[in-house]
Amino acid sequence: MILAAAATPFYRAPERRGLLRLAPAAAAALSSIPVTSIERFLTIPEQFRNPFVPRRGTRSLRYPLPGKPRVAVLCDGITEDANTRVFAMGWTPEIAAFRPEALAGDLESLRTLADLVLEGIADLPTLVRPIIAFSGLPFLDFPTESSHIPALTAADRNLFWQAFGAPVYEQWLGIDNEVLAEECDAHCGLHLAVDRAIFELCPDLGGQELVVTSFENLAFPVLRLGTGIHAIISTEPCECGKPGPRLVAVPTLGRRSIASTAAD
Ligand SMILES: [Zn+2]
Repeated sequence: MILAAAATPFYRAPERRGLLRLAPAAAAALSSIPVTSIERFLTIPEQFRNPFVPRRGTRSLRYPLPGKPRVAVLCDGITEDANTRVFAMGWTPEIAAFRPEALAGDLESLRTLADLVLEGIADLPTLVRPIIAFSGLPFLDFPTESSHIPALTAADRNLFWQAFGAPVYEQWLGIDNEVLAEECDAHCGLHLAVDRAIFELCPDLGGQELVVTSFENLAFPVLRLGTGIHAIISTEPCECGKPGPRLVAVPTLGRRSIASTAAD
């Protein structure tokens, strides 16, 4: 990760070169590297481009439960296969013809389709497997106006249940579309992918800012990306039995919360 970062214009700039020389590739040493805010990154993404690593393109869908159901994906960025089809252009009867057992998509696409189903415009069979909702940081290939994508809310869960007849599992994505945290059966926060990223909480005005260093995003290796999100990391055991820390909701100062609450 440090080597990937050292190949980018941003970290090769004369005023920052010393930072990486001093930093051995250990989590503890990261603290010597300044946090880069998501807003700053989005202003100058090309400065963080590692020329030696190609962009990954699409990725395989991570289904949160055993089995591999037929999933209609409502946004780009996911690899198609026998059970996974991408319908990124909005509602089309082809989605129903595909007979999906589940849906996956960004919140905006899921909300739009849910509304169309409830209005009787989209004729989608009831789903038999849970939905995956993507939230998280802006996906580089689909820049948005905002530096944050709205989080999944309790109202979304109700809407999706009414429209699709299925519960929803949230997956929190990094800037290269990589899954950095995901919801489990217990719906009690999102399990952090500690094998694929380093997560820190840094004191910030009015809370603890979530700071992420992703190992999967070697094409844009930002060390200590400040997400601008106030978060709490719970180390209490999860009901699902899976060990490891989880992100739990903290709506603070008008910033979005990043995970569902236990009450959902
Ligand atoms: Zn769990």
